[in-house]
Amino acid sequence: MIIALALLASSAPANAQGVDKPDPLDAIVAEAERDAREGRYDKARAAYIALARKHPGTPQGLLGEKRSRPSAYLGWAPVEETGPSANRVDIVFMGDGYEWESLKAFDKLAEDAATVLARDEVVREYANYFNFARAVLVSADNGVDGFGRDYDTPLGAKTLGTFAGHVGIDQAKVREVLGQMPEHDGQAIVFVRNGVLGTGGSGVAVIGGREMKTMVHEFGHSFAGLHDEYQTQTGHGGGGGVPNSLNVASLADPKLVPWAHWIAAKHPQVGVHEGAASRVKGAWRPTANGCIMDSAESFCVACREVLVLRIHEFVDPIDSCSPEPQAQRVKVPHQVGPEGFVATVQAMRPARHQLEVEWYLLPERHFARTGDAPSVRDDDGGAPTRSRTRKGRPLADLRAQPVATSRGKADGSHKHTVLPKDLEPGVWRLVCRVKDTTLLRGEKFPWVLKDGESLLSSERGWWIEVPPR
Ligand SMILES: [Zn+2]
Repeated sequence: MIIALALLASSAPANAQGVDKPDPLDAIVAEAERDAREGRYDKARAAYIALARKHPGTPQGLLGEKRSRPSAYLGWAPVEETGPSANRVDIVFMGDGYEWESLKAFDKLAEDAATVLARDEVVREYANYFNFARAVLVSADNGVDGFGRDYDTPLGAKTLGTFAGHVGIDQAKVREVLGQMPEHDGQAIVFVRNGVLGTGGSGVAVIGGREMKTMVHEFGHSFAGLHDEYQTQTGHGGGGGVPNSLNVASLADPKLVPWAHWIAAKHPQVGVHEGAASRVKGAWRPTANGCIMDSAESFCVACREVLVLRIHEFVDPIDSCSPEPQAQRVKVPHQVGPEGFVATVQAMRPARHQLEVEWYLLPERHFARTGDAPSVRDDDGGAPTRSRTRKGRPLADLRAQPVATSRGKADGSHKHTVLPKDLEPGVWRLVCRVKDTTLLRGEKFPWVLKDGESLLSSERGWWIEVPPR
């Protein structure tokens, strides 16, 4: 089998440059996906049927067969795009139980859902950090499995064994749909047309009907792993032990609850209040003022902090920079000519506050002198990798003062010019650090008090060489 595959690979058509020729069947798939994106669902389906019939046994023919089933994924379309997926939280809306004639109704629902989500205080402030898309999913039936009935739907909506009949879906099927999209973050919000209530976890929120308030609550579960702050038995998620993480505590000690740092900082709304995780006793929540994870209109202070940090697991405060950054260990300096060396950094743009930008100029010996050197995470000041949490280490103390700070740039674009006359000849490292203080105008407390992994900070660096005079 392996040999056969290797032969296949080596006999793949290649042009004179040795680059694989585009497969004409891929072009047909791309065209069908474009039809789906632009709402020509019948045309997309016809193309998939033709692919399956004319090219059986090819990967594209198999794809066509799969996508022309009565319940199928046809493609996807953007709902709200703010920037490159690589540096955004990508959320995908999906519908289950939407038949051919109601596909357009789902398109509208996805638009509404994005609008409602963006009304939440946290998502609104970080609206530029999110991309919303919708999968085009057609259902043969409009129904929810359970009570002996089995319906043909793409995500396998089912009634869970709760007293209230909460709706759930087949997580594996959601993952399979996400896997067919060019880029995703494992985050989906699924609307089940005929379902009731909702469930959420592990990146997938499930909402019955079009309950928008339920959606934000389930998003808290699915996106940030937040727990219920309900005191009453809701019939889902209440089983098992009481967690002691994020927004729910299994003990009442103000020094040991997960939000202890807010109590130590004397935030007036945060304390230790009994009643959470579907229990009246034996579980504690951070606030008496209410939270979306209970049934209030906005997230409490502790949940808001969790959400902001979670967003920054996907999004780097530095969106792009020029020229390409250089890791600290790659010492190939840019020569500083008479016109100087110019670095520009595009910072992310929250809605109501601006990020802090600091520039440092450090002589080469600064790095040699200190044994435990200013060194930064795994990227060493170079371009970041996808997951920001695995880096684990906070940014190092540079043990220097910034040579410039820039703030108040509404467009988020920051520039620093180094002229040869400014520096002694030799090799230097220019470092740009960007930090989200999460402190909004007129507010006494930042939204994030504890950022142990420096998720809210980022840096890029460049080696530069000033020629001898
Ligand atoms: Zn909360």
